Amino acid sequence: MKDTNIFKTFRMTRYIFKFFVLSLFVYGQLAAQSSVNTKTNFIIIFADDLGYGDLGIYGHPTIQTPNLDQMALEGQKWTNFYVGSSVCTPSRAALLTGRLPIRSGMTSRPERVLFPDSKNGLPASEITLAEQLKNADYATACIGKWHLGHKKQYLPTNNGFDYYFGIPYSNDMNFEGTFTSKEEQRAVLAGSKNSEIENFNVPLMRNEEIIERPANQHTITKRYSEEAISFIKKNKDNPFFIYLAHNLPHIPLFASEEFLGTSSRGLYGDVVEEIDNGIGEIIKTLKEEGLDENTIVVFTSDNGPWLVFDENGGSAGLLKGGKGMTWEGGMREPCVFWGPSNIKPGVIQSIGTTMDLFNTFSSIAGIPIPQDRVMDGVDLSKTLFNRFPSEREDVFYYRGTELYAVRHGDYKAHFITEGEYGQFGEREMHNPPLLYNLSHDPSEKYNIASQNMEIINIIKNVVKEHQSNLIIGDDQLKDREGR
Ligand code: MG
Repeated sequence: MKDTNIFKTFRMTRYIFKFFVLSLFVYGQLAAQSSVNTKTNFIIIFADDLGYGDLGIYGHPTIQTPNLDQMALEGQKWTNFYVGSSVCTPSRAALLTGRLPIRSGMTSRPERVLFPDSKNGLPASEITLAEQLKNADYATACIGKWHLGHKKQYLPTNNGFDYYFGIPYSNDMNFEGTFTSKEEQRAVLAGSKNSEIENFNVPLMRNEEIIERPANQHTITKRYSEEAISFIKKNKDNPFFIYLAHNLPHIPLFASEEFLGTSSRGLYGDVVEEIDNGIGEIIKTLKEEGLDENTIVVFTSDNGPWLVFDENGGSAGLLKGGKGMTWEGGMREPCVFWGPSNIKPGVIQSIGTTMDLFNTFSSIAGIPIPQDRVMDGVDLSKTLFNRFPSEREDVFYYRGTELYAVRHGDYKAHFITEGEYGQFGEREMHNPPLLYNLSHDPSEKYNIASQNMEIINIIKNVVKEHQSNLIIGDDQLKDREGR
């Protein structure tokens, strides 16, 4: 009897000990998990003036982009993805606010973008994607071209970004010298060789300080990629958002020694291939740090190719027009989503826009969408994770504050058409509008308006509804020093 009791006590003690050890183990695991970054990180890589046809995976015959091609194969390649405007400033405002730039006042005419003597920038009342992600304790970095106001109150550091490294506007600004003719300007900017950095006295900033002027643009692409890698390494234990907006391949073109003369596409190809190489290094870093399973990387471009610069401009592939225009080539862009554990691979024909990134990333991060304003994005996460069709049916193509065209499903109506930079014709009003079926005719060659008046009426109703809640923001682009 005594022996049995001793045995029982021993057994009980053993159980208590086991329970204690197990509890310690579980506690240790939980403690370890709580210090590990399990939220989804986001990296947006935004090229400047790269066209729909400029990547290998989008059909370019001589530009080699093996890293982006591989990401598209492992992730999603979108074929109907749009930006919010055909030029830099409004396109960037649309991406970061999830709203059409007409609402924030970041689109105008004749000043289509901000300049080094512009007085204003993105209004403080706008909520940027960085500010939104700060609500869920994301570390945030803006690396590269900003172009939403270079004065202190408008800089990335005052728009939700913890860190900024980059040129605050376009790389062709602060031109040193005068152009005697349009032809000379074109020749200097297009330059058949690697351009002289001294011609373009653009500042390079770290946070709110200018650290180099002129920025050495030969090495800028490489340095932007390195900055992104360094930010990833520093923030691997907490959720992070990186907005990496390359200044290139906007003219004037610059490549580092390592890439100069290496592409069979010429200097433009050297530049794009250097950007692609940096993206490969970023993906490699994510894998090495064990972050590839919980990071989504998206690549796209701010607007179509700047066609007037001939060989030094890019290609919109089979799309009509380019930068500055509301033809497809101006606003439809290559777009690759990558994230090996969550993006369901495939080619996506659904319509998406850069404005949808705000809603999509907010949804994935579990942050509610602002309710006090009209948002123009939709949540694409079901398309990304399950390949469900996106909820987006409409695309609005603005030039300044005028609505030039509307896409509704497969159909696009042009109410106004206008070329830019001396190409693709003068401004022309259309009544009835020109109508194209973009699924059948992506090059916008065959006007089918006369046989499809009922579709035009549907699109007119879409316009009516869109304009019924439209409040145009105060023009932020028109005021420049000395004008
Ligand atoms: Mg651009």
